Amino acid sequence: MKAAKIMDEIKKYIREVPNFPKPGILFYDITTLMQDSIGFRLAVSSMEKYVSSRGATKIAAIESRGFFFGGAIADRLGLSMVPVRKPGKLPSETISEEYDLEYGTDKLEMHKDAINDGDRVVIVDDLIATGGTLEATCNMVQRLGGEVAGISTVIDLSFLPWREKLAAYDVNYLISYDSEEA
Ligand code: AMP
Repeated sequence: MKAAKIMDEIKKYIREVPNFPKPGILFYDITTLMQDSIGFRLAVSSMEKYVSSRGATKIAAIESRGFFFGGAIADRLGLSMVPVRKPGKLPSETISEEYDLEYGTDKLEMHKDAINDGDRVVIVDDLIATGGTLEATCNMVQRLGGEVAGISTVIDLSFLPWREKLAAYDVNYLISYDSEEA
């Protein structure tokens, strides 16, 4: 299927929920994509193609919606899968990165032994908004000796300024929204 057709098709399965999780936020819900076996497979297949084209040796998937896609892609390609988690969830020795939210900061962690020198890592999440979550993950992958071979998401919010933050990386997404109107 052509890229434009895939985009139209996948958009049909995304549910737009106004005022979630708080007033003024339009939430792009990927559970409706996953609930449809054809939609989910189309998204995973498209992301798999990208990950494969980047010569990845590992996938790092971001908690929690990145896990659904990252796990499926890793299994298809026979790659290892590294979870990037919220603080206090990983049981062994970790490194962490703090990043800015609209109000305040948040933190992500990875196991220290999850990435080896020379690993080519594609980072997977459901959506890019400001890019802070992905930037923090890129930093951790590099601190552990890995190379960021690419970033793969389902959704891009193109009206938010993530491009500057992630300028050093190859970014691929399946669908874009260019305004916050439902
Ligand atoms: P950011 O760090 O600003 O790029 O935010 C990306 C993370 O926040 C992703 O893991 C998304 O799951 C989540 N996120 C941010 N904005 C939205 C939104 N409007 N709808 C759904 N998820 C969102």
